[in-house]
Amino acid sequence: MTTPPAPGPAGLRTPGPADLVVTGCTALTHDARGEIVFVDDATIVVREGRIASVTAGAPEDPPANAAEHLDGRGTVALPGLVNCHTHTPMVALRGLAEDLSAHSWFNDWIWPVESNLTERIVGLGARLACAEMIRGGVTTFADHYFAMDEVAAATAESGLRAVLGQAYFSSQGPEGRAASLDFALRQRGAADGRITTCLAPHAPYTVDESDLAATAELARDHGLLVHIHAAENREQTANSLARHGRTPIEILERAGLLDVDVLLAHTTGLDTARDLPVLRRAAGRAAVASAPRGYLKFGWDTTPVRALREAGVPVGLATDGAASNNTLDVWESMALTALVQKYVERDPTWLTARQALDHATLQSARAVGLGDEIGSLAPGRRADLVLVDVTGPHTQPVHDLAATLVHSARSADVRTTIVAGRVLMRDRALLTLDVPEIVAELNALLPDLVDRSHGKRIQEYEG
Ligand SMILES: [Zn+2]
Repeated sequence: MTTPPAPGPAGLRTPGPADLVVTGCTALTHDARGEIVFVDDATIVVREGRIASVTAGAPEDPPANAAEHLDGRGTVALPGLVNCHTHTPMVALRGLAEDLSAHSWFNDWIWPVESNLTERIVGLGARLACAEMIRGGVTTFADHYFAMDEVAAATAESGLRAVLGQAYFSSQGPEGRAASLDFALRQRGAADGRITTCLAPHAPYTVDESDLAATAELARDHGLLVHIHAAENREQTANSLARHGRTPIEILERAGLLDVDVLLAHTTGLDTARDLPVLRRAAGRAAVASAPRGYLKFGWDTTPVRALREAGVPVGLATDGAASNNTLDVWESMALTALVQKYVERDPTWLTARQALDHATLQSARAVGLGDEIGSLAPGRRADLVLVDVTGPHTQPVHDLAATLVHSARSADVRTTIVAGRVLMRDRALLTLDVPEIVAELNALLPDLVDRSHGKRIQEYEG
């Protein structure tokens, strides 16, 4: 497939050397119907942070003229992965609260410990998380947490792209919602446009209906995405029905949140008979983020991906925070999504490797509201891509490249991570963040962070 370069001001071919050229790779592209097409011996040309062309064979201008040339032989170039729902600073709590029910996890550990959070811990956690994600081939993450100016600073420093929202509970009073809006308006377009923002009410069980309705109005007025936990598990849906006579999804609908662009985290507790018709009406606005590892750990059901697909709702891949998920490895989420979906549907033909790659690319991009900007290696899109080494013994030989990528390759096979045309990791070496320095400072702060002797907690989990 050959893409002509964009004409210049006088209708001439685009002049000047490229900023970045990758040669000799196999490129994962999409055709006009969104089907995955692998282009062998591809050359990817990047100008001004965007993909200028993806062509088979010889480059349109010699790599010697490019500011930076990457030899992609032996690798597959993919759109960078998107972590559609995470809480990056929670890497500071990785492995702290294990083998517990959701009630005990929240009430005995996470919410007491989060009352000790400081801006510095949030900033260090976010930096460590960014390093982990760059190493795992993630180029965009959607974060939902507190002290989000710290996460924005970490995003700027790391070079990643992010969709950031300041979380709030109704227990904070109207100030919580106001701070979320203030953050969203202030940081929108920051980090050279790599930061987009959203409103981030925590969940229908911690944010009351009038607050949710006010959030919907703000989202409409300011053109903002809303990112919220919803129907995280069956118990939450049962409790919502008992207390309000409505499912969490029906509560969101009544509040007007399904009339705006909304990213729903998890939805493993969907009442498919009641909720799917509601979500079908919200198709084109609603999307879901699925983080299967955490559901397995808590013994929950999983996101009903097949039913959501039939309802026209995109499902993006996610890891949630590392306090529950232990890793921010979206590659693992992709493989687990394929496996868990086969298992729950009792259907080996469902959720093929190509479908898993579709969730990892176009569907994830749509889920975070960047469906026209990222998620595909196509001219005009942001130059967010990763080079994955498929020469290792665990990935050879290759009969079906989609299966190799989903079921044999691992995040550790990502050699190079590029965002907006800038190389953030080259041959596994991080170029923007100093992990030993971050970890040393974070470790010194952990004793104060994990102290629960005060008996406080930021919220009460009733589900
Ligand atoms: Zn979450």
